[in-house]
Amino acid sequence: MDQQRLKHLLEGALCNDGHITVLTGAGISAESGIPTFRGPEGYWTVGSRVYQPQEMATFRMFQQNPRAVWQWYLYRLGVCRQADPNPGHHALVKMERHFPGRFTLVTQNVDNLHRRCGQSNDNTYEIHGNIQWVRCAKRCLNDLRLLPAEVSVKAKDEPISEAEWQALHCRSCGHLLRPHVLWFDESYDESYYRYESTLKAGRKTDLLFVVGTSGATNLPNQLVAEVYRRGSAIIDINIEENPFGQLADRYEQGMAIRGPSGAALPFIVEEMTTLRTPSS
Ligand code: NAD
Repeated sequence: MDQQRLKHLLEGALCNDGHITVLTGAGISAESGIPTFRGPEGYWTVGSRVYQPQEMATFRMFQQNPRAVWQWYLYRLGVCRQADPNPGHHALVKMERHFPGRFTLVTQNVDNLHRRCGQSNDNTYEIHGNIQWVRCAKRCLNDLRLLPAEVSVKAKDEPISEAEWQALHCRSCGHLLRPHVLWFDESYDESYYRYESTLKAGRKTDLLFVVGTSGATNLPNQLVAEVYRRGSAIIDINIEENPFGQLADRYEQGMAIRGPSGAALPFIVEEMTTLRTPSS
């Protein structure tokens, strides 16, 4: 890591009490043992067919085979519940606390690890939802609910019992419940997924960290484009090359750090908290 360049970017962005936004993707939770969508563990077998996450995580699949989709989510929920936040998550909590009123976290992750780690509700935008919540698939009410207590998380290939299936129906209208996640064939909105709030954060951002994302989804691309248009600093942290890293590499106000976020973020936050800025 080019530490001189990092320091230069941080100082420039933070000198006038600038706003910090962090965009995270599945990569930040990889070190907690939650697989990203890119490895072999993303695939799921239903009957004799193997599906990719981009096929499973769709409203279309939910309509065709809701039980298979629910089984997949109950398996993923079990993986998320077993995982613990890693040093990358902890570093972001420290960042938020050190820069009160100047911090927004935009996460694509549905694993709930940022919140479990202590990130505030107000400054955390879960733009793809959160797997711990469910809601009525027919939207009879728009509220989010916890998974009914009668329903357990599943091991791979463990079926959902009849009693559990009944409990996965809305108590108000009797329609099926669904996980509170944005599926690949659905659109962002403000009320569930903080669409406008995310773009608004982008428009005031002076320093953006992009952490562990491959850049395959729409709103993250819009957010990065907004910050780039504004001419603000962009620091990408990823173990691999990716479109955001390439942009940061060729941009005067950018930098790509190739390495795991669990090591890079604690180092960066340490640097940020020891910087001498007008408000420190
Ligand atoms: P992705 O799977 O497409 O890409 C993950 C990125 O993380 C890759 O670029 C990879 O190189 C990088 N990475 C892996 N380990 C890393 C580490 N230790 N440090 C830094 N970078 C690392 O993930 P995405 O871009 O977030 O998009 C996938 C979609 O799937 C999102 O919509 C997300 O909601 C969903 N998803 C969420 C989770 C989760 O909640 N933890 C897990 C899998 C997928």
